[in-house]
Amino acid sequence: MQKPYIVLSSTVLVREHGFHPLIVADVIDETADTRSFVLEIPPALEARFAYVAGQFCTFRAAIGGEQIVRCYSMSSSPQTGDPFAVTVKRVPGGKMSNWMNDTLAPGDTIEAMPPAGLFVLRATDTAIVAFAGGSGITPVLSIMKTALATTAREIALVYANRGPGSVIFADAIERLRAGSGGRLSVHHHLDSERGFLDAVACAALVGDRTQADFYLCGPGPYMKVVQAGLDQRGVDPGRVFIERFELPDAAPVAGAESATESITIRLEGRRRRVRYEAGDTILDTARRAGLSPPFNCQAGNCGTCMAYLQEGRVTMRVNNVLDTDEVKRGWVLTCQAIPTSREVVVDYDR
Ligand SMILES: Cc1cc2nc3c(=O)[nH]c(=O)nc-3n(C[C@H](O)[C@H](O)[C@H](O)COP(=O)(O)OP(=O)(O)OC[C@H]3O[C@@H](n4cnc5c(N)ncnc54)[C@H](O)[C@@H]3O)c2cc1C
Repeated sequence: MQKPYIVLSSTVLVREHGFHPLIVADVIDETADTRSFVLEIPPALEARFAYVAGQFCTFRAAIGGEQIVRCYSMSSSPQTGDPFAVTVKRVPGGKMSNWMNDTLAPGDTIEAMPPAGLFVLRATDTAIVAFAGGSGITPVLSIMKTALATTAREIALVYANRGPGSVIFADAIERLRAGSGGRLSVHHHLDSERGFLDAVACAALVGDRTQADFYLCGPGPYMKVVQAGLDQRGVDPGRVFIERFELPDAAPVAGAESATESITIRLEGRRRRVRYEAGDTILDTARRAGLSPPFNCQAGNCGTCMAYLQEGRVTMRVNNVLDTDEVKRGWVLTCQAIPTSREVVVDYDR
């Protein structure tokens, strides 16, 4: 799987935190509140911005004098000749989504970090069942296009929206279905016609496809319902892949009552020992001490805040980014990392 690393030596791989300016090549109206942004990847950045279907980029823009950082998944497929594109739905009152929809025009520049994320296809022939809700269709569309173009896998899409006007990519999905030779089936659920989808209906939509790989992306309450439906069908959670666009409720970490008193943080070439308050994450601790480490989603989804754990132990509340090997090598998502040992030393510069 392609990962956003830079090679520092023959043995050390470090995930790249850097932002790169990308030019907007085109802006496409998808629905009344959603636009796609086609981005030009200059030849010098092509290798760094190579991506796998389902991944996202972290974008940064100065909006009203404030630096705003948000993640957006690629709706394009890297395997079908699509230009590199992300699709952004307005969130009422939201800073970045409204700024992008209102302001970002062809010829403008936006900064982006190289692609990241583990919401990607596994190398297997098993069927795919995707449950998408609203803007959650973006990575799912990329995954579907890619699976249809590069595998023989069957795909069932359940796509929930408030009403017919909210269905993003309605025509593109219909074209994919029509050209799939029967491999893609699509079930549109519209709340305006049938109310919210419930767990029983989800379980019924899964039917006998319990051995499929399941891809879920949508609003939090929708995903809870889908997960309950999959539980009813006895689907193995190891087959369920979830991309969360929103912050989950912070859950207390069992067994995290450590005696940690301070944390040593290396950032921008400086090493500081800062006081630790019980229940805080490493990111909270650093920010409370007036440091400015990189962070974005604060939900364990984007990887912007990752750092190297040089000494000590931590527990991550959520980790939707790092694989087992990366965790073993010492990488942690500091927005989710609660210290569980007396001494903890983290390095953001590594
Ligand atoms: C991995 C990942 C991939 C994603 N991919 C996509 C994608 O492909 N397409 C897409 O459209 N989105 C995607 N998202 C979501 C996206 O990153 C943003 O979260 C979303 O666009 C909202 O950002 P915003 O700046 O517009 O809203 P924000 O400014 O973050 O506001 C979000 C909400 O919080 C409320 N709010 C903000 N500040 C306050 C406050 N002080 N008090 C009370 N309420 C407040 C706002 O009113 C709004 O309702 C993705 C997220 C992740 C983590």
